[in-house]
This record gives sequence, C-alpha cells and structure tokens, in this order.
Amino acid sequence: MNILVINAGSSSLKYQLMDMDHETIIAKGICERIGIEGSNLQHRPTGKEQVRIEKPMSNHIQAMRMVLDALTDPTHGVITSMDEIGAVGHRVLHGGEKFAGSFIIDDDVMAVVRENIPLGPLHNPANIMGIEACREVMPATPMVAVFDTAFHQTMPPKAFMYALPQDYYKRLRVRKYGFHGTSHRYVSRRAAQFLGRQEQGLRIVTCHLGNGSSMAAVKDGKCIDTSMGLTPLEGMVMGTRSGDLDPAVVGFICEQDGIDVQEAMSILNKKSGLLGISGFSSDMRDLLNAIDEGNADARLALDMFCYRIRKYIGSYAAAMGGVDAVVFTAGIGENNAIIRELCVEGLEFMGIKINHEKNALRGGERDISADDATVRTLIIPTDEELVIARDTLELVENLPGKPA
Ligand code: ADP
Repeated sequence: MNILVINAGSSSLKYQLMDMDHETIIAKGICERIGIEGSNLQHRPTGKEQVRIEKPMSNHIQAMRMVLDALTDPTHGVITSMDEIGAVGHRVLHGGEKFAGSFIIDDDVMAVVRENIPLGPLHNPANIMGIEACREVMPATPMVAVFDTAFHQTMPPKAFMYALPQDYYKRLRVRKYGFHGTSHRYVSRRAAQFLGRQEQGLRIVTCHLGNGSSMAAVKDGKCIDTSMGLTPLEGMVMGTRSGDLDPAVVGFICEQDGIDVQEAMSILNKKSGLLGISGFSSDMRDLLNAIDEGNADARLALDMFCYRIRKYIGSYAAAMGGVDAVVFTAGIGENNAIIRELCVEGLEFMGIKINHEKNALRGGERDISADDATVRTLIIPTDEELVIARDTLELVENLPGKPA
C-alpha cells in the first residue's frame, strides 16, 4: 500500500509518498508560502530531478490539489491516479491528554484536536487545515493522526506536573506534555533492536538535537520524562528558543523594558537560544564556522547548548536509576562529532565514553562508544515520516470493512 504522509504548517505543507510494501520513498516535496505571494511547490520524485512549480495557492485545499496533481502528473508524477494512495498519515502537534497513540481520523478525533488549539496555538490550527484539505480533496481515503505528544503520555505525574496551584492543571490542563514523541519513540526502539535487547529492562536517554531540540528518558520502552513542556519552549538551548530559565525572567524583562507578556514570549521563542547568544544565527553550522574564526559569542552558545544536554543526561540517568544507552539523533545529533563529544565530556564516571575515531566516521546507525565504556553511545538517524506511515498502515489495515 502507498501511504501519503502530510506535515502541514501555517503556510507550508510537506508531503512524502511511501511504498509501504518496501518502506521506500516514492516522492516527496513541499508547498511553501501558502496564502502568501510567491506560493510554490517543490516536488522530488525519487531518483529524478526536483521540479519547482510556481502557482498561487490561497489555502491548504489548493495546496493539496497541487500535491495530487504533481504526484499524478504524466511527466514528473509517480502514480497514475489518486486511487493508488491507500491512506494518509498526518503529523499533529498536540494531542493533549486524550491521545497516547495514533488514531484513525473521525469527527471525534477532530474535535479533540480542536480542543487542544489553546495548547498548540501555532501548530494545531495548521494541522487541522491540512487534514481538512485532504478530506476535501480525497474524501474516500482513510486518514490517521499521529501526535507529537503521544509517546510522552506514559510520564508519571511526578514528572509531568508543574508545582503550581493544582487548579491550573485541573482547569487549564497546565502540565508537561513533551514533543518530538514520534522521533523519541522511533530512535529508542531502534536502539533496543540495534543492541539486540528487549526494551524491557533498558534505560535509554534519547537526544533529538535539531532546530528544536528535546531529550527523553525512556525506561522499559516507555517515556518517563522529557525536556519540552506545556509548549516546545522548555528544556534545551535551541535554535531560537531559550529552553529552561527562571520564570521570573519574563516578569523582570516585561517590567524593565515596558513590554507585554506576548512580546516577552516572542523573544523567548524566536530571538533566544543559539540566535540570541551568538547574536547572528540560529543555525549550528553558522556558529561552528564562526567559532573557527574565533567568535567568542558563538563559542559561548555552543558551550551552553552542550552543557545543558550533559546536565540532562545526568538527571535522566538519576531518574531511571542508571543508563544503558545514550542516543543522538536529528540534524545536529546525527551530523556533528564535536558536539556529541562535548555533550558527554566528563561523563566517564558514569561509564559514558566515546571512541573518537568511531565518532568521526560518517554513516547510518552506529555505536560510537569506547571499548571500555559501560554505557553504549549510539547514533540513530530519526525517521518521523516512516513512523507516521507505519502507524497509518497498521491502523488502516485493521479498519473493519477495509477493501482487500
Ligand atoms: P528541524 O528541527 O528543523 O527538523 P534538523 O533536525 O534538520 O531540524 O536540524 C537542523 C539543525 O541541524 C541546524 O541547526 C543545522 O545547522 C544542524 N546541522 C545539520 N548538519 C550539521 C552539521 N554537520 N554540523 C552541525 N550542525 C548541523
């Protein structure tokens, strides 16, 4: 069966068509600037040149039509008709407390995704637009929602509660939810397979280090703690997000600079992290280039980024009563040897030690631990689209009355 994976943002729509008999990508692409001047679609059929189509797209429905046109186009298309798409899997940011797994999309599921808009105000409305566009354009095709928060729903209250008056939890559902759950689930399971171990009995710290970064403590295959919170702002130093800080900072800068909370939150979300400290870029590669040229602010940003990860590895080891494996994934975690070294520097006392040569080699899934390390340090490239497609396939195959 072919499965179309959709990740809809407010002005973009990413897609990937997968052949699930072989788990291969048939084509992928992105619609950008939806509803803005200069809308375009970039479509890449596997093994062929990328095609760029400039055409106005005033909403997600038009974008979905463009995607289907591109997929079925006689020259750069990959299927002959929409009927060759067996199901659609949607990435949805916030499932709140109701979704601890993936679900076939129906009106009840949509109602909960809508209920969660206050918790994911930037993403859930965009995800809803993506789902509604698909429902409009391919009404007979089953669809599945895969939530970024779902994997973290196994956290115990002592990990997910904030020490606020409980009323905020009871009335407004203020708590830690965590994000990147699809990635933490995938890499922790792959790590267990890679080590030839059952998930039961394994204690894994997963480090998803990309533009947005998060970590999770995964014990017996279940998330018991994670770094992102009510929103993706908590935790690591990220591209533009501050991560952890004293909440009093918000009140202080508001008072001192005469700005409102909304502006302060925008600073914490969009102007902080690597960008705020370096003063010039949120992209780790830019920072590394600047460090080579002696830029001290870029160096400070890198040191803060790695130091926070190291502290979290220690705290998650404590939370799990030890650690068997540390897993690095996503853009920075998969690609940068120096950063991996800095993140685990000084953790030899816990049995975490990297082999420099193995760490420097490029490749896919691999063990970069030193021979005398008692904790395995692994690199596991993440594949969120594959997880979404697998979940979609599994749910759709079990639908009653599914055509053979
Ligand atoms: P997103 O969260 O947008 O999915 P990615 O997982 O693609 O992000 O990660 C993007 C980040 O990875 C950027 O900060 C980029 O600079 C960084 N990155 C990619 N390759 C490297 C590399 N070789 N060294 C350091 N950082 C890298």
